[in-house]
Amino acid sequence: MKNFTSDVIIGLEVHIELNTKTKLFCSCPTHGSEEPNTRTCPICLGMPGSKPVLNKKAVEFALKLCLALNCETSPELIFSRKSYFYPDMSKNYQISQYEIPLGKNGKLRLSHGKEIGITRVHMEEDPASLVHPSGLKESAYVLVDYNRSGNPLVEIVTEPELQSPDEARDFMKQLIGVLNYLEIFDINEGIIKADANISIRESGYKRVEIKNITGFREIERALFYEVKRQKEEAHKIEQETRAWDSEKGITFSLRKKETEEDYGYIIDTDLTLVEITDKWIREIKKVMPELAQEKIKKFIGMDIKRDDAEVLASDKFLANMFEKVAEEINPLLAAKWLRRELVRVLK
Ligand SMILES: [Zn+2]
Repeated sequence: MKNFTSDVIIGLEVHIELNTKTKLFCSCPTHGSEEPNTRTCPICLGMPGSKPVLNKKAVEFALKLCLALNCETSPELIFSRKSYFYPDMSKNYQISQYEIPLGKNGKLRLSHGKEIGITRVHMEEDPASLVHPSGLKESAYVLVDYNRSGNPLVEIVTEPELQSPDEARDFMKQLIGVLNYLEIFDINEGIIKADANISIRESGYKRVEIKNITGFREIERALFYEVKRQKEEAHKIEQETRAWDSEKGITFSLRKKETEEDYGYIIDTDLTLVEITDKWIREIKKVMPELAQEKIKKFIGMDIKRDDAEVLASDKFLANMFEKVAEEINPLLAAKWLRRELVRVLK
């Protein structure tokens, strides 16, 4: 539902690489050798006759995320083939979820309490990386590295309920906090990408989509740039798809006409239907850690100032250390020392 009382409307589609040891449908390692095309096998190279086998750990990680984002989870896991012709997917289709996502109707709370709706959470495989030797626009040829191809991704689609780049940044911060607590994403090595829909009142809310923004900081930069650009050029904004150039710090037009690409989704019959039983969900819930929001509430209950509680809870390691120290000494003293002195020295 669009919020037409806001000057700025932003919706995000965030892609997160799950930190499993092996890929989503084969046993190739997700990390290791950086030599191009060495972490591959017939399955992730899409060779004829090869059959994908689902990585159970990746499903567990994605289910944890769905539960942490308060989603309804699907009783069964169904994968579809998203057909397209492009060198980053050698099978000419990407295994994704379309008709029935793993999770839907969730929410994530921002730091000031506003809740952002999560439309859906689904799993898919990462395509290969394309290497443009002399830059995106200038290269005469493109190289393909399939090391990344088949890595497990989750996609989180939000409702268009973010009302500023600041809220989008807070959303990403809260989301990364959840990933940190669940230990399903490697903040140092893992890839986080987003597509963003942005529109502003002055243009009559003409929807502009920015594709493929890589990295937490870049998402924020791209949104700040795009809102400013749309305000300055409000009268000539058109509905279009743009890309983010992180080196130049600008967005540029990719295509003007909004075409609903026909990917011809079909159910992937190579993958058998997996039931997500109540028993499985209960087992996952049992091992779910207490999340940052719960920690903050608990710390405030110990008379810790909200500001300190938020800093302590922002990192799982720091939060757990605080709880241990607070068992031994006065929690206020522990909070003061850990929040101020320890963090200062670590920095
Ligand atoms: Zn493989």
